Amino acid sequence: MPEQRKTGTPAAISRSALKHGITQAGYHFQALIENSDDAIISKDMSGNITSWNVGAQALFGYAAPYMIGRSMLLLFPVDRHDEEALIFAKILAGEKVEHFETVRLHRDGHLLAVSVTISPIRDGAGRIIGASNIARDISEQVSLANAARRCEAIIASSDDAIISKSLDGTILSWNAAAQTIFGFSAQDMIGASIYTLVPAELREQEDEFLRRLRLGGKVEHVETQRRTKSGGLVDVSISSSPIHDARGKVIGVSKIARDITLQKRAEARLQLTSRVFSSTHEGILITDAVGSIVEVNESFLRISGYRREELLGQSPRMFRSSRQGPEVHEAMWAELAATGSFQGEAWSRRKDGEAYAGLLSINAIADSNGKVHNYVAMVADITPLRTKQEELERMLHFDPLTTLANRILLGDRLQQALLLAQRTGQSVAVLYLDLDRFKQINDGYGHDIGDQVLVAVAQNMLGAIRDTDTLARMGGDEFVVVLQDVGAACYPDQLVERILQACARPLAIGELLLQVSASIGMTVFPADGGDADQLIRHADQAMFVAKRDGRNRICHFDSAFEAGIELRNVQLSRLALAMRNDEMLLHYQPKVNMRLGTVTGVEALVRWQHPERGLLAPAAFLPVLQDDPLEAVLGELVIEQALAQMARWQSAGLRLPVSVNIAASHLQMADFAERLGTLLQRYAQVDPGDLELEILETSALRDLQAVATVMHACLALGVHFAVDDFGTGYSSLTYLRRLPAATLKIDQSFVRDLLVDHDDLSIVQSVIALAGVFQRAVIAEGVESEEIGARLLDLGCDTAQGYVIARPMAASAIADWLRSWRPCASWKGRLPA
Ligand code: C2E
Ligand code: MG
Ligand code: MG
Repeated sequence: MPEQRKTGTPAAISRSALKHGITQAGYHFQALIENSDDAIISKDMSGNITSWNVGAQALFGYAAPYMIGRSMLLLFPVDRHDEEALIFAKILAGEKVEHFETVRLHRDGHLLAVSVTISPIRDGAGRIIGASNIARDISEQVSLANAARRCEAIIASSDDAIISKSLDGTILSWNAAAQTIFGFSAQDMIGASIYTLVPAELREQEDEFLRRLRLGGKVEHVETQRRTKSGGLVDVSISSSPIHDARGKVIGVSKIARDITLQKRAEARLQLTSRVFSSTHEGILITDAVGSIVEVNESFLRISGYRREELLGQSPRMFRSSRQGPEVHEAMWAELAATGSFQGEAWSRRKDGEAYAGLLSINAIADSNGKVHNYVAMVADITPLRTKQEELERMLHFDPLTTLANRILLGDRLQQALLLAQRTGQSVAVLYLDLDRFKQINDGYGHDIGDQVLVAVAQNMLGAIRDTDTLARMGGDEFVVVLQDVGAACYPDQLVERILQACARPLAIGELLLQVSASIGMTVFPADGGDADQLIRHADQAMFVAKRDGRNRICHFDSAFEAGIELRNVQLSRLALAMRNDEMLLHYQPKVNMRLGTVTGVEALVRWQHPERGLLAPAAFLPVLQDDPLEAVLGELVIEQALAQMARWQSAGLRLPVSVNIAASHLQMADFAERLGTLLQRYAQVDPGDLELEILETSALRDLQAVATVMHACLALGVHFAVDDFGTGYSSLTYLRRLPAATLKIDQSFVRDLLVDHDDLSIVQSVIALAGVFQRAVIAEGVESEEIGARLLDLGCDTAQGYVIARPMAASAIADWLRSWRPCASWKGRLPA
């Protein structure tokens, strides 16, 4: 048996052969030793090598002549030198060292895994004179064992579940990750069926997998679901392979399951993001850090008119429109560089060359180190809003019936005339003219005839004035004439007389021959040192006195001064009395979310319960108050009444947010925020967050800076703001973002004709988009029909106020209304188109 041959003590025999002569058996042993695959070495008691066989040469790389006489330590790695002392201790004690696994050095310096057996060599007298070493190379065994250990370590530390099972699905091994993913421990599962993990509806799939694997096939990266110990489901990706025995027969299955819950979630998030990207109404354009376009969405293609391929890799410079100078883009880049974002308006060019107004919101996208990788631009096409505004601006300057200048253009012209007069020392006369008994013509012959009379009288007056003069229609039958450079300090009586005569000229309207007359009030600058507004008001007051004094006449302001002031004063003191007498009260109009059928609040609208004239709407008395200190007094009264009402509702278990309208002059009082704070303290049970202040867009723009400052002070108190009659202020939309108002109220004039007037529809759409970009809430006022409400819902405006929901009503009627109100049938659950 070869084993025995090797474990003998050939070195000892070889020694005695040398000493006592070589025997026959000695030759045999010698040959055995020399040819053994094992290294067989002997050493003396000082550790020097005395014999070295071929196996030793093969294993360690040294030849016998070199090694004989050298120290055994030559074969020991430095850190193993003390092994030799231990070995000698054993030998001296007459013991063997058997199958000791250690490492030794090869001649070329690499380490060898060896198993050594060392025995003492005795002389004839039994004294220990040396030791024999048999060393066997076990590198291969060691590396196999290491490989197996490594495999186990990999399986144990894998994040994937690694499971093996028999062909009938019985689980044979179960790693730590399998426990983490499925919750079951190895103890739970080894010996259990794989079907424990398979939800009932997926059993067939698992059957099919096993069938395929039995035939030697594979299952690769199948995404499916498995049950967990807690009864839930986990998304996994499964790969299975058959396990073959040595003859290639399939004897089991190995299976790797990866938890893809996070991946699934990330995929879902990605899908959502890309749906938002592709379906949003605003155009989205993404560039890289140097401004090359890398992605655009459908809406952007629609707005710009380009195809996607035409844009990728290009620079957004290609959209630049000549409608604005380069400074717009320079400012944009400067702001982007400084703050990482930009919001504002810019004109751009579509593919067909047409210019469009875009409301832009650009953001730099930086990594965690602050390095910018992309820019994302959102563009809302607000061209309809812009063009309508431009058209409005045009319309705003002229009276559509008579084509005369209107009140606004008049204001401009008068201002210019005054500036000129100041420079040249000339005078400017302002005439306020009201036709006498025009109402009788309207009532007697109808509005058409009335309109024709107005046009004809306007023509006659134009004939009476000079080119440099301005004739404007103020509305109704009221006109204003501005006469320029009417020689210093003299009244242009002749000219005014001519105008009076022109008005009184008989008019041939169809078959009718009609005649009207005019009452004219006049004031002259600089004798009257007022500004443009005051001059017009003074002329108006003088006109009032002309009427009172018998019509068809001219009255100078200086003589009418006292009478005029008196009149307005009478009206104002009557209103002051009304406030003291509690004749002012509030009606409330509900605001609702049409889609959800919920009531979001009410708007407080002031009424005057006049003892003789009955219940009066704001139009009947607010204009008298305009810009008078009493306006703020009324405003404060309104806020206080609203807060008191909110407190009463609250005690009755009804919490209802209320908005109140604030006049521009009131909002601009220096102590507005402070006084509001005092009122809020008085009604401490009311949450300031339930109070909303509505300010007119036009008044907010009067002095944006001051208004924004007051608004911020009020925000600090907790109240909110809405911009009322939004869309009627024809000023730059970029102002909007400086106004800290949470809500935009689309003006009722646009809402009313939404279904029939395409321009109004576009404006409403633009305002909704605008609100989206600026992250403001939007509410439509003046909703008079179910269809308009439905259309607004389709456009994405859910909140509304209007007669079809409720008319303004007394506070006492609100509770009943809340109980009985139901949204229109077509509104509920409607999704935006
Ligand atoms: P606003 O703030 O825009 O209020 C909406 C006006 O539209 C109210 O007129 C309301 O009755 C009317 N309205 C509501 N729904 C509809 C509808 O479906 N169709 C039509 N045609 N009209 C509708 P109201 O009460 O006559 O008030 C007129 C304006 O007077 C208000 O316009 C607001 O600017 C001003 N105002 C009202 N109350 C106050 C107040 O307490 N203080 C101040 N400063 N202004 C007030
Ligand atoms: Mg309002
Ligand atoms: Mg309004």
